[in-house]
Amino acid sequence: MGDRPTNWAGNITFHPRGEVHRPGSVDELRALVARGGRVRVLGSAHSFNDIADSPGGELVSLAGLPRTVEPDTARSTVRIDGGVRYAELGERLHGLGYALHNLGSLPHISVAGSVATGTHGSGDGNRGLAAAVAGIELVTAGGELVSIDRGDPRFGGAVVALGALGAVVALTLDVEPAYQVSQRVYQDLPFEALDEHFDAIMSGGYSVSLFTEWRGPVIDQVWVKARTDGPPPVDPARFGARPADGPRHPLRGMPAGNCTPQLGEPGPWFARLPHFRPEFTPSAGEELQSEFLVPRARAVEALHALDAVRDRIAPVLQVSEVRSIAADEQWLSPAHGRDTVGLHFTWIKDTPAVEPVIDLVERELAPFEPRPHWGKLFRTAPEVLRARYGRMADFAALARELDPSGTFRNDFVDRFITA
Ligand SMILES: Cc1cc2nc3c(=O)[nH]c(=O)nc-3n(C[C@H](O)[C@H](O)[C@H](O)COP(=O)(O)OP(=O)(O)OC[C@H]3O[C@@H](n4cnc5c(N)ncnc54)[C@H](O)[C@@H]3O)c2cc1C
Repeated sequence: MGDRPTNWAGNITFHPRGEVHRPGSVDELRALVARGGRVRVLGSAHSFNDIADSPGGELVSLAGLPRTVEPDTARSTVRIDGGVRYAELGERLHGLGYALHNLGSLPHISVAGSVATGTHGSGDGNRGLAAAVAGIELVTAGGELVSIDRGDPRFGGAVVALGALGAVVALTLDVEPAYQVSQRVYQDLPFEALDEHFDAIMSGGYSVSLFTEWRGPVIDQVWVKARTDGPPPVDPARFGARPADGPRHPLRGMPAGNCTPQLGEPGPWFARLPHFRPEFTPSAGEELQSEFLVPRARAVEALHALDAVRDRIAPVLQVSEVRSIAADEQWLSPAHGRDTVGLHFTWIKDTPAVEPVIDLVERELAPFEPRPHWGKLFRTAPEVLRARYGRMADFAALARELDPSGTFRNDFVDRFITA
């Protein structure tokens, strides 16, 4: 066997029994799963922890499944395969006159992998990406094909499922007519403006992100994305920020060439909602990431708790991003049942230096009962994490029902998913 496969950031080495399988059809995948033994599906490998690993078992990539983008005009849905990435899907959908409600910051991430971990963009009215899923088709242990649609009592556990129910070979997503978005970046919002105006700032556009390097009492950048068919954005200059005089990268001083166009230039939804351009493909990442999702109502308090330890955070941080996510109904979604604010950290790529600061951040945020992003780095004790999900036992029961042999479990799932 050649070099062991790793995740995108290179901080996790996967330990499958052999090479990564790349079935070219669903039948090939079914035969592979039916052989028995443990199986995990790898999406685009953008998670930062061992969630996708398959120690001693099979690791499967579905990137080679036939590309499927089948719109259903009557239902306003599109059926897609389990290997496609948002960059390709966005362009194809836009060409067909359709759009998704939202996207994450990087479009090179697979749809199935994103929804499996509760990935989200920003926007007070926008739920996470999994909320667009109307139906899911899985190859389960034994090689059976199972469909679970919205309305099925199992659906609440089926989408944000950490890969633990089976291999997702197809998804049906809600779509809407294609729309245009323009984005503007503002700089140097005084931190104290959040006390009075957090809600006004975060609701000031279709999708709003705050970036801070925690180097002072300042939000370094405010990114406001507004739909051209929606209400006009609220200008953060009203709260003390100033418009950037040119395109910006979220990291101060980095060239903005890889970032989606700014300065108010309208463009298609898929080329503005992510921060990074689809045509720029980062092959490896010099970073680590964590994110903790707190109840929206306590976001400002949580930001103050972080500000109190910013001297400890800043030395190991590249940048933090603050986003809002509307409550959803997926049992394992970090925004399950509560309007949420995501407090994200792009760390330097130095695990020993970063881990104690993750511990510190988790201690500071503990009063707010944060739910960690499933695909990023966290150190929360499994019993603490489980207690933060009211439907955890239901999910564990669903996993037992669909996967009684534990074919799709791994160490990560064993740690966090128990009744
Ligand atoms: C640069 C960068 C930017 C990011 N931006 C955001 C962001 O804006 N918002 C956000 O919330 N997160 C963000 N993330 C995190 C990222 O969205 C998640 O880690 C996501 O899960 C990655 O998707 P993936 O396809 O790479 O999944 P992987 O890391 O490959 O896998 C994640 C999980 O999905 C399962 N899985 C994947 N495909 C399938 C399938 N077909 N069937 C069954 N299970 C499957 C795997 O088994 C695993 O459990 C970012 C990550 C990076 C590296």
